[in-house]
Amino acid sequence: MLRLFLLSLVVLIPLVAADWRVGVAKLKITPQGPIWMSGYGNRNKPSQGVVHDLWAKALAVEDKKGHRAVIVTTDLIGLPRAVSEQIAAEVQKRYNLPREALMLNSSHTHTGPMVRENLMTMFDLDAEELQRIRQYSQTLTNTIVEAIGGALGNLEPANLSFGKGQADFAINRRQTTPKGVVIGLNPQGATDHEVPVLAGRKPDGTLKAALFGYACHNTTLTGEFYRLSGDYAGFAQIAFEKAHPEAVGMFMILTGGDQNPNPRSKEELAIQHGGELATAVDAVLKTTMSPVKGPVRFSYQVTDLAFQPHTREDFEKELQSPLPAKVRRAKEMLKAYDERHPVTKVQYPVQAIRLGKNVTYVALGGEVVVGYGLRTKREFPAENTVVAGYSNDVMCYIPTTQIIKEGGYEAVDSMIYYGQPGPFALDVEDRIMAKIHDVMKRVGRSK
Ligand SMILES: [Zn+2]
Repeated sequence: MLRLFLLSLVVLIPLVAADWRVGVAKLKITPQGPIWMSGYGNRNKPSQGVVHDLWAKALAVEDKKGHRAVIVTTDLIGLPRAVSEQIAAEVQKRYNLPREALMLNSSHTHTGPMVRENLMTMFDLDAEELQRIRQYSQTLTNTIVEAIGGALGNLEPANLSFGKGQADFAINRRQTTPKGVVIGLNPQGATDHEVPVLAGRKPDGTLKAALFGYACHNTTLTGEFYRLSGDYAGFAQIAFEKAHPEAVGMFMILTGGDQNPNPRSKEELAIQHGGELATAVDAVLKTTMSPVKGPVRFSYQVTDLAFQPHTREDFEKELQSPLPAKVRRAKEMLKAYDERHPVTKVQYPVQAIRLGKNVTYVALGGEVVVGYGLRTKREFPAENTVVAGYSNDVMCYIPTTQIIKEGGYEAVDSMIYYGQPGPFALDVEDRIMAKIHDVMKRVGRSK
C-alpha cells in the first residue's frame, strides 16, 4: 500500500511541480544569397557569404490561468514597426495572442541584412537590391510568425527561474573631444554590465530555454566585414547551445544605444565577447536562481515623441550638403512638407511583461541609450527589472535629455540615416519615463 502511494507520488510530482507551461522554437532567417547589409553607411556592395546562420527564436510562457506571453529574439539590425505590426496582427489572428503579450526584440547585428525601410536613408539602392530586401522582409515576417506558432505549439509543463550575472566588454562610446562628442571610447561614461538570465526548465530539471540580455551595440564587426553573422550575440548563442544542446539560447539586446563592445573590428573578438557572455550565462545557471511564479501580466502603450521645430528652408539648404545621405533625408522631408504632413513626431511603443512578482521585462522601441535602463531599474528597485531597447520598432536613437543637450551621433547625426528630421525635443526622456511608469502600473508595479 505504501509502495503504491509512493509510486503515485512519483507520477504526480512532475505534474504538481510545474508553475508554467513553456514552449520554445527557433527558425533560420539567414538570407539566401547576397543581400545589402545594414548598419554601416560605408558599405558599397552586398553580403559575401555567411559566418553562421541568423535565427528567429520564440519563448512562450503560459501561467496556470492560461494567460500567455511570447518573447521573440532575432539576429537582425532592427524590426521596423511595419514588420512588427504585420507579425502581431497575424499572430493575433492565428493564435489569438493579444498585441500587448508579444514582445519583438532585434539584436542589432551590423552584419545582418537590411530589413524593409529600417535605416533606408543610409544607402542609395537600385531597384534590384530593393526588391531583394522586400522579398527577404516578407519571408522573414512569415518565418517569425511560424516561430511564434512553434513555441505556442510546444508548450509543456516547466518552471521559470531568474538570476543575474555580469560581462565586462561593453564600454560607453560617447567620447568628449574639443570638436564635441564623437563615437570613441569613454571609460568614465555610464555602462550597465548586468546579464539577466531567465531559465525555463522541465520538471525533471532539464534546461529547455535560457533568455539572456546585455546592454551593448552588436558591432564588434565593423563596416569592412561582408559575411553575414549575428556578431557577438550570435557567437554567444552558439557557444551557449553548444554547451547546452538540449536547450535554446536567446539573446535580447538591452539599452545599448551608446555602448560598444571593446575592443572590436576582428572576428576573433566577436567570438571572444560572445564566449564571455555565454560563460556569464552559464555561471548564473549554476547558482540557485530565484523561482519565478505566475501570473503573467502585460501592457503595451504608445506615446508621441516630438522633434525640435524645423522649417522647409532647413531642408532646402540641406539639399546642397556634400553628404549623400543628408540629401536623401532632405528630399524625404521636403516631400513630407509638400504633402502637408511635415514629420514632427514619432509614435513610440513602451511595453511591460511581468512574470509573477519576480521580474518585469520593459521593452522600449528604438536605439535606447543606457541611461534609460539604469534610471528605470533605479526607480523600480523592489523587483527585478530588465529593460530592453530595439523592441517592437526601431525608428531612431532614443537619447536622454542630457545627451540631446550634449549632441553627438546618438542625438543628431544618426537621425539622418533613420530619415528623421533632427534632434528630439528636450521632453523626450520625461515622456518615455512617464509611459514606463504607466505600463508598470498596469502590470501591478508601483514606484
Ligand atoms: Zn546602432
